Amino acid sequence: MTLVESTPAPASFLPSPPSVLLIAAHPDDEYYCAATLYRVARELNGIVDQMIVTDGAGGHRFAALAGHVYGLDLTEGGKDHALLPEIRREECLRAGKLLGVRQTEFLGQPDPGYTQQERDAHRAWRLHELKHRLEKRILSHAYDAIFVLSPNPGEHGHHIAVANLTQEILGKLPSNQRPLLLAVEPAHSSRESSVAPIFQFSRSRAVSRAESLTYTVIVNWLIAEYKSQGLFQLESGRHDCERFWPLGSTDPERAKYFFASIA
Ligand SMILES: [Zn+2]
Repeated sequence: MTLVESTPAPASFLPSPPSVLLIAAHPDDEYYCAATLYRVARELNGIVDQMIVTDGAGGHRFAALAGHVYGLDLTEGGKDHALLPEIRREECLRAGKLLGVRQTEFLGQPDPGYTQQERDAHRAWRLHELKHRLEKRILSHAYDAIFVLSPNPGEHGHHIAVANLTQEILGKLPSNQRPLLLAVEPAHSSRESSVAPIFQFSRSRAVSRAESLTYTVIVNWLIAEYKSQGLFQLESGRHDCERFWPLGSTDPERAKYFFASIA
């Protein structure tokens, strides 16, 4: 599989502005593809919508420090701890505004916390309702592509469940109505992936009309919005690129054409 490098495509090659739906298990998952989403929404005048599956109540161990910022007691068992989903919803909306996200749909499924097992997600979530809402949005918007977080073994079980549910839903659509399904992972460019990605977006590239500032600035701003995700703050600078792979029946050639319009 040939990697589409981040070089400009000739104007005649460019389709209409891209439209992308990110389906994410958690508020803050958009970090995986933040620079690419910014590129689509803010620089190419494309459409970026996102669906956040869980209410983000899990992963609360490092929320206490943010309590000082919000004037709340977010310590484990603290009196304001139950406000965490609402806080993360607001953080996600602020982060979305930075990236240029058009619509964010919160699906409010329970988040029982970290697991590597997909079946834990299936146990926790109201699957019938979830599939219905995913289907409804996918059918009523002609997205060019759907981004999901990589479902590789060892990833968060919720990410794996989202990728597989999306794949299942798309599998029922006629092929001419099926958007591309693309898995994304942030990485450091010095580390090779075991399977070569179809596209890699560098966060070290200069943002257009921003002098010499790079997409890393945007990514750091996004991280900073998630003050209740304490440990997440330490991700700053860890990944300098975003890598994509086609999932399910997605045609790699169509996917490459799509990414050429972003590169
Ligand atoms: Zn996540």
